[in-house]
Amino acid sequence: MHAHNIPVALALHGGCGVMAEHEMSTREWQEARDALQAALTAGWRILQHQGSALDAVQAAVVVLEDSIYFNAGYGAALNADGEHELDASIMDGTTLAAGAVCAARHIRNPILAARYLLEGGDAVLLTGAGADAYAQQQRLACVENQYFTTPRRIEALSKMREHQAAGTFKTARESEKHGTVGAVALDSLGHLAAATSTGGYTNKPVGRIGDSPIIGAGTYARDGVCAVSGTGQGELFIRHVFAHDIAARILYGNETLEHAAQHLIMGTFHEQGIGAGAVAIDGQGNVSAPFNTLGMFRGWVNADGTGVVASHQQEFPFVLPSLV
Ligand code: ASP
Repeated sequence: MHAHNIPVALALHGGCGVMAEHEMSTREWQEARDALQAALTAGWRILQHQGSALDAVQAAVVVLEDSIYFNAGYGAALNADGEHELDASIMDGTTLAAGAVCAARHIRNPILAARYLLEGGDAVLLTGAGADAYAQQQRLACVENQYFTTPRRIEALSKMREHQAAGTFKTARESEKHGTVGAVALDSLGHLAAATSTGGYTNKPVGRIGDSPIIGAGTYARDGVCAVSGTGQGELFIRHVFAHDIAARILYGNETLEHAAQHLIMGTFHEQGIGAGAVAIDGQGNVSAPFNTLGMFRGWVNADGTGVVASHQQEFPFVLPSLV
């Protein structure tokens, strides 16, 4: 049955490791915002056509994976060996079905492999060569590992190696440490979904898995409660079971989405100097997008249907294509 009184909602992030404004040109900032707009539009179109929250978050994440500006898919961070190992997950808030891949090296869009796993209902999480082989079996686009490499990531790796040699990692900028993409959505049937995809962090140890493919840590969705996608130092998100903690605060503690979503990011993580951010939506379509870093690539749709994208404090509204 179609529930007319349920508003659809969509929010996304492109990581809390945004550079200082002077570190990218006006044209580059514009292009990054254009990619956020394109991702928001792709997901919004699906929701407007009564499509599912799952399809909407997947579509948004694919656009961000394909963009050079975000640390996921094309343009992902390089690990200590100068290679890419990609993590992604997606979760259905209705059934709690989930799919995830980690340390994948050849899947062009890791979120698509995660979605196949979710639908398959068998394994939730596949790693490394197993994930790559699975994607190939499903006839998903597979690429050489170098496909993901960009000049910016090569430069970031050499800078991180310098930091490592000099023992100055703590002074490394958030933009050198972070990046992830994610989306959360509420569809016209009241279903929630969340998706997250990342290259992890620059110079990460080979085989290191972050929070993004861990259900409950970087990604979580449960109908009537919330959908969450996080960004920030994954180890902390795993240890605090970040995304599920937000759901638990709402479900068992009766907290509002905003209060629950802010708790760790603006509290514990902020106090410990851990750069972090997230996007979250509750069962009523309220959106929260907290971050404690200089900026976070983000976007959402207001209740009046206006799209908004942002990287730092300034918000850029735009008109989403209407139906018909
Ligand atoms: N959460 C990601 C990871 O730890 C990285 C990030 O969002 O900055 O892999």
